[in-house]
Amino acid sequence: MIPRITLHCETPDWQRLMAEAITDPAELLAILDLNRALLPAARRAAELFPLRVPQPYLARIQKGRPDDPLLRQVLPLEAECLETLGFIADPVGDLAASTDNGIIHKYHGRALIITTGACAVHCRYCFRRHFPYASASSRSQWPAQIQWLNRHTQINEVILSGGDPLSLSDARLADMASDLAAIPHLRCLRLHTRLPVVLPQRVDEPLLAWLSALPMPRKIMVIHANHAQELDANVAESLARLSAIGVRLYNQAVLLKGVNDDVRVLSELSERLMDIGVQPYYLHLLDRVQGAAHFEVPESQAKVLLEELANQLPGYLMPRLVREVPGAGAKQTVL
Ligand SMILES: *Cc1c(COP(=O)(O)O)cnc(C)c1O
Ligand code: SF4
Repeated sequence: MIPRITLHCETPDWQRLMAEAITDPAELLAILDLNRALLPAARRAAELFPLRVPQPYLARIQKGRPDDPLLRQVLPLEAECLETLGFIADPVGDLAASTDNGIIHKYHGRALIITTGACAVHCRYCFRRHFPYASASSRSQWPAQIQWLNRHTQINEVILSGGDPLSLSDARLADMASDLAAIPHLRCLRLHTRLPVVLPQRVDEPLLAWLSALPMPRKIMVIHANHAQELDANVAESLARLSAIGVRLYNQAVLLKGVNDDVRVLSELSERLMDIGVQPYYLHLLDRVQGAAHFEVPESQAKVLLEELANQLPGYLMPRLVREVPGAGAKQTVL
């Protein structure tokens, strides 16, 4: 007999790794052998949106390289403190599209729930970096959200988002998933999460157990990686375990200046994703959130990049270049 995996009351590994994430800019610079001259700016920017990098992600950043594409995504910079015209707190109109119980309903058939404000990593360009999570993601709203979903029979897919839904405990997620599975018109559960990329230890037995037991015809996970360097062997192994239980994997990336605004980098990202079982899905133009202007790649340049990419890759490796327009009924295809 195969021994049952006993669930100890100990904190799972991933929760310990989340709790031990680096949050002090001085520590980040010291670990990565970076110039301490970067510190005052990092401190100021981290006051607006705290620094957060878990060790397994940190391990993939090259030391002594201020331009490392992974470091660029997590290191707070002076530029974040600049006010830029046209860059606002809620660039995608999430708040206007929210019901009173915190469900964001923008698109036909799909409802998105902000389950938590917590993330394993803080991405400096995050479009929800100013999101009022405290008021929008209260656990006490769950019963009202379930009632809303029961009443809205045209919704067939629920997206758990955040923050990062996989920063919730498996006990909580399993409860939520079973409440959703009991709604007859829901056919699909989708998770929007960066955790399998930044902290692949998250994909453990308890997560696989409730996900594989979930009686929904379609289980989808949309991960978020912007550069092939993020996708190491541990990530590949975690994603393989998800694929093995029938979870369909897609990736959304954000086109970011200094990170992946390069045909070779985008091509390597698509190739690596497909090699580890993930379908490239969206490549987002930056949402114009306050503090992220220095990451923006202009639309004209993005189009040129994507045309060059299309000349190099088979069609199935091409992400769709999209922009989110507040009030629109779908993500808008740019090319
Ligand atoms: C992006 C998004 C979705 C998902 O859109 P797809 O095109 O189905 O991937 C759903 N709801 C909201 C509010 C979104 O922002
Ligand atoms: S993981 Fe997603 S929600 Fe969290 S900071 Fe990064 S982009 Fe934002």
